[in-house]
Amino acid sequence: MMLPRYRVRRSSRARHVNLTISPVDGLVVVVPRGFDERLIPGLLDEQRTWIDARLDRFGPIPDINPGWQRPAGVSLPAANERWSIDYRTNDSASVRITARDDAILCATGAVENEAQLRAALLRWLKRRAQHLLTPWTTELAARHGFKFSRLTIRHQRSRWGSCSSRGTISLNAKLMFLPPNLVNHVLLHELCHTIYPHHGHEFHELLASLEPDHRQQRAALRETWANMPDWALR
Ligand SMILES: [Zn+2]
Repeated sequence: MMLPRYRVRRSSRARHVNLTISPVDGLVVVVPRGFDERLIPGLLDEQRTWIDARLDRFGPIPDINPGWQRPAGVSLPAANERWSIDYRTNDSASVRITARDDAILCATGAVENEAQLRAALLRWLKRRAQHLLTPWTTELAARHGFKFSRLTIRHQRSRWGSCSSRGTISLNAKLMFLPPNLVNHVLLHELCHTIYPHHGHEFHELLASLEPDHRQQRAALRETWANMPDWALR
């Protein structure tokens, strides 16, 4: 009989083996320190009915990637920043990321848990993006006479930015992985949408007046997805 896929989390607080099932982490087996992992398959088999019922309720759970490795650091070309990451495990169920100085990040908590670590890195990326892109967009808008009402940072899968009819600009946090000239290009593109909400002739004329080589920038932008770190993509 095939066992469901699971992760093991060691906890110094756990007195017994504990099973948890969530849509994000799938099946997690929490074991006390020193527990013999060879006993896990037998335990899971005993709890099979309960596990199957819970797993069914959540539907498909994202694949666990056995080759996944924690990143040793993060480069953010947009901000010209390079961070190394220091990992510290503790009993917390989630991961917290804080900057120790301007080049070292501390990731503290369930750092062996891929889903939790990725979630924490993405939250951190969003904060950095907000910090960098808000003043950048504001400055560009003031320089060229654009008005936007709000800026939000999101984790979009396939677009760099968007602009709503109410003048809310949404930017992809992954812009932080691009060089500054391409970030600038995306910001100008979205600011032009505050005037023309389409990609018609007037839109391109306006964009070309601000950035004569915008077509090359657009082409360069398509090549960049290959350079994203694995944790930011899925
Ligand atoms: Zn557009």
